[in-house]
Amino acid sequence: MDCLFCNIIKGEIPSYKVYEDEVAYAFLDINPCARGHTVVVPKTHYENFTDMPSEEAGALFATVRMLAKMVEDAVSADGLNIGLNNKPAAGQVVSHVHVHIIPRFEGDGGGSMHSIVSVNGAADDLEEMAELLVME
Ligand code: 5GP
Ligand code: ZN
Repeated sequence: MDCLFCNIIKGEIPSYKVYEDEVAYAFLDINPCARGHTVVVPKTHYENFTDMPSEEAGALFATVRMLAKMVEDAVSADGLNIGLNNKPAAGQVVSHVHVHIIPRFEGDGGGSMHSIVSVNGAADDLEEMAELLVME
């Protein structure tokens, strides 16, 4: 399997490495949305976040949490968007789980999670949806 981010982790493709531990590797996005845009990937190859065992997802997010503070401080950001595109329908281009840490600045003109998608009528069946999604 030829995976871009696995090759970056192995050092076969160069990257601006920000951080590395047993579970995760973090590097600057080659096409940053903002100064300091950092991508955090698990060292084990999983295509989708929903494929990851919960312990590994938890460990990945512990590293994301630590790096979020580090990136925020380093670029004196006013805020951050932290998230991942899971599967192509959600905009995932590289098929190896990766969490984006995107610094935000007052007046940068960007949007929020709410600007990703807005489907008409999505609020029409909240009761039905709650029944579908509730976990006993
Ligand atoms: P996605 O759209 O799949 O959520 O994010 C993939 C990200 O990987 C994009 O933001 C893109 O700029 C970044 N990217 C793609 N190829 C490379 C690369 O070769 N090196 C680095 N550092 N980032 C890359
Ligand atoms: Zn991979």
